[in-house]
Amino acid sequence: MAARRAVVLLSGGLDSATAFAVARAEGFEGYALSFDYGQRHGRELDSARRVAAALGAKEHLVLRLDLRAIGGSALTADVPVPKGRSHAAITTGIPVTYVPARNTIFLSHALAWAEVLESQDIFIGVNMYDFSGYPDCRAEYIEAFERLANLATKAGVEGRSRLTIHTPLIRLTKAQIVKRGAELGVDFGLTWSCYEPQPDGRACGLCDACLLRRKGFAEAGLPDPVPAAH
Ligand SMILES: [Zn+2]
Repeated sequence: MAARRAVVLLSGGLDSATAFAVARAEGFEGYALSFDYGQRHGRELDSARRVAAALGAKEHLVLRLDLRAIGGSALTADVPVPKGRSHAAITTGIPVTYVPARNTIFLSHALAWAEVLESQDIFIGVNMYDFSGYPDCRAEYIEAFERLANLATKAGVEGRSRLTIHTPLIRLTKAQIVKRGAELGVDFGLTWSCYEPQPDGRACGLCDACLLRRKGFAEAGLPDPVPAAH
């Protein structure tokens, strides 16, 4: 019997790389899906390509979506990225790096591709702890999307298949994600988290994503192979 196919949302960050590795460890054939959505920098897409290749993605689709035309986020408009915030500040409220409806947009495309691939499984590396307060990273959001997915598709309505949204990291801290990824052989040197890469190619070390990443590696007791400027 052929391996079951899973569509895995792959941003190039350490969470999605670990989610891909979990899918692979569970016996799925991974179809990586990334978005060129007009984000500030192309660095994370380069990482997504390298991670997909390193983890043996069956296919890697990079869809172009111009979310910059909509704007409304520090990642898609000319709004400064917050720097040097405390962990309490990072995990309270919804920051300006929130991209309006991003995971709904991404999961909708994953759902369409899954239906074409006759896949019943989508993996997304969201987590509720050590995250940036984005509403579309919560378990109740994912459950609601899964219900929608089974009402929205031909495969679901005809009862041929039932789609599952897998969130293997949702209740893990960043440190636990780092440990899980390391156990599964993820090369974190290929991943990228920083919202504001420096001209010399290093991570900034001060944005929310860099600070959460640093805390995760420190608590996991592992070195981060990606150098940071600060
Ligand atoms: Zn940064």
